[in-house]
Amino acid sequence: MPELTQSEFVEFADLLTDRQAEAFWHRRVEGSTRAEAAAEMGSSKSNVDNLERAAHQKIMQANNLVSVVDATGVEIEGVIGVCSQCDDPTRELRPNPTDNSDLRKKQMVCPDCHDQLKSA
Ligand SMILES: [Zn+2]
Repeated sequence: MPELTQSEFVEFADLLTDRQAEAFWHRRVEGSTRAEAAAEMGSSKSNVDNLERAAHQKIMQANNLVSVVDATGVEIEGVIGVCSQCDDPTRELRPNPTDNSDLRKKQMVCPDCHDQLKSA
């Protein structure tokens, strides 16, 4: 199960419109069919396709942008995410120090939870 709820995803996926985020959620996260997503959103299947395609494109562009900025070595502050421990929105996420999984799959936590977990 994802760490976020649908409403949190829609709220925090700032680059996406609410409808794009909803379409992406139903199709990619929940794995709904086009018909199911369309029914859920009170929309047509083709409109769901368009929204999901637009969401996917923005996410790829955002991902590319992050890669390009990373390559400059500049650290960007002010990124908002949700802590996987306390569920609070945070401007800084760090990998959970007690999570031994692959870096890409590590749970992300806020600085407060990070310090608590580290000293525990
Ligand atoms: Zn936290």
